[in-house]
Amino acid sequence: MTDPKAPLPPTAGLSGGLLARKGSAAAQGFAGAPALEPPAGPPPAVAAVPVPPAEPAAGPRILIVEDNALNMKMMTDLFEGNGFRALAAMNGPQALMLARAERPDLIVMDIGLPGLSGLEVTRRLKADGGLCAVPVVAVSAGARAEDAAEARRAGCDFYLAKPVPISRMLETVAGLLR
Ligand code: MN
Repeated sequence: MTDPKAPLPPTAGLSGGLLARKGSAAAQGFAGAPALEPPAGPPPAVAAVPVPPAEPAAGPRILIVEDNALNMKMMTDLFEGNGFRALAAMNGPQALMLARAERPDLIVMDIGLPGLSGLEVTRRLKADGGLCAVPVVAVSAGARAEDAAEARRAGCDFYLAKPVPISRMLETVAGLLR
């Protein structure tokens, strides 16, 4: 029932790895720049410690497209509090620009946007060869079955009707990033 991947816990592992690596390197006296390639010989004992990417220690990046400042704040806090990195766009053109520049892992798309609608933004993203594989979760006040169907036709991978329970949002995002 409960998806074990829903609350992603990457921070504990990452910080643990960083601490372990820092200590091990100091103990071995590796003061110089890190080697670009692993040594050819048998690995030293510290190789058993998983080495996380040096920068940045963070989870998947989610582009949140939302024109309501309060909703944006709530979703930013929600995702950043659960191991994701949040990128924020308040309108369609900004969403397209950020998506192309940052290549997020997933996009949460408010359908009701001033000017360019979330549906139109999604159509353009899905027509972009470099971005069409990025999952788009539509979030809309529309509760009719027709709204969900329209979002699907525009290319949205998932549809959530507002108000969206926090657990449902996290489960949906984790499921699409799996
Ligand atoms: Mn809106």
